[in-house]
Amino acid sequence: MADLDAAAVAVFAETLRELREELRALLRSSADGAKPVGLDQAAVGRLSRVDALQQQAMAQANRQQVQVRLRRCEAALEAIQRDEYGLCRRCEEPIAIARLEAMPEAPFCVECQQGRS
Ligand SMILES: [Zn+2]
Repeated sequence: MADLDAAAVAVFAETLRELREELRALLRSSADGAKPVGLDQAAVGRLSRVDALQQQAMAQANRQQVQVRLRRCEAALEAIQRDEYGLCRRCEEPIAIARLEAMPEAPFCVECQQGRS
């Protein structure tokens, strides 16, 4: 069991549900930005086409980050249902509460996260 009592877990659950909605809304609103850049060379000069490609790459990278966070949110909400929220999914030690407050969807403790990256 994590260092969290039921009241604290309920607060994290609420935060995670809100975060999940925000991330879903973000994915919906960014869907247009990640679409392939058109090949209309007449309308788009070479330099602005490079800009457009860079912006598209950034939008896609952002989208991927949002998708990762969304998956982590969902996994964290599932962990709450299993009564395993706040436990590192690798070493199964409790994740520091300060870390969860900063990143409620964090799947790993600081040590395991650093070991992975
Ligand atoms: Zn760990």
